[in-house]
Amino acid sequence: MRVIAIDGPAGSGKTSVAQELAARLGLECLDTGAMYRAVTFAVLRAGGDPADSGFTAAVARTIDVRIDDERVLVDGVDATVEIRSLTVDRAVSAVAANAEVRAELVARQREWANRRDGGVVEGRDIGTVVFPQADLKIYLNADSSVRARRRARQSGALGHTADAGGVESVAADLTRRDTIDSTRSTGPLSVASDAVVIDTTDKTFDETIEQIMGLM
Ligand code: C5P
Repeated sequence: MRVIAIDGPAGSGKTSVAQELAARLGLECLDTGAMYRAVTFAVLRAGGDPADSGFTAAVARTIDVRIDDERVLVDGVDATVEIRSLTVDRAVSAVAANAEVRAELVARQREWANRRDGGVVEGRDIGTVVFPQADLKIYLNADSSVRARRRARQSGALGHTADAGGVESVAADLTRRDTIDSTRSTGPLSVASDAVVIDTTDKTFDETIEQIMGLM
């Protein structure tokens, strides 16, 4: 099994880098953030409270999530756009801090890779928890202002109404999520000891890809 693990905070460029690497290497790519977002979407849709750990864990265990290059289907409902909404942004870190939710999604991520004999997997705990034996571990980072600008652009491209606070509000949300994601007790965002850290602040997309292809 050949696994490439890409971790890093929101807006560091993980998803586009992972997709390009997968295309170049002829592998499939898994966006694990979309899985945590899908559970959050399903909890909110059922009228549940993301802080209700029992309910949220039950949703994680029973939910049907299908992710392909274009769409995310949650229990048969197309949630591609909704999982990236501000409402889900604000609730997802609480859901992702739930140890039972993590256990379920980590098991599904391992099963996904086993079925394909590997792939490019991106998230927060891929190199540390999900695939500690990954063939290559990359930790992408970038200055928080650059990450906030990237996230605001993506959000606009998806048609989400800009938050009244604009980029500053996106930046505040990123900082809040980074803090929750890096301080939770299960699977926190952290750099694996054998990961290669790449700061994308002053790098073009192509430079980042070339650096990783060189490491391969
Ligand atoms: O990558 P993205 O920003 O879409 O991830 C959304 C949220 O999902 C993160 O803020 C984090 O709380 C959670 N997540 C996680 N572990 C992963 C991937 C995402 O906790 N492997």
